[in-house]
Amino acid sequence: MSCPNCGEPMVKAIYLGLPGEFCESCNTLTGLAAYAPPVASQTEDGPLFKFMVYEGSYWRALWHWLTGR
Ligand SMILES: [Zn+2]
Repeated sequence: MSCPNCGEPMVKAIYLGLPGEFCESCNTLTGLAAYAPPVASQTEDGPLFKFMVYEGSYWRALWHWLTGR
């Protein structure tokens, strides 16, 4: 998948527990994670609001996201 803005390849990311695609070149976020409530960006330190880039299975990544391991 490539970025709709700059065409660079995107990486998979989890935000608010939702899967999305993230562009490291221009910080574009797409997918379900892009629909996360705007308030989340102002409370990034909360454990549920962390942003995590991952590879492989979403479910495995979600487990790591939830447990912090
Ligand atoms: Zn981009």
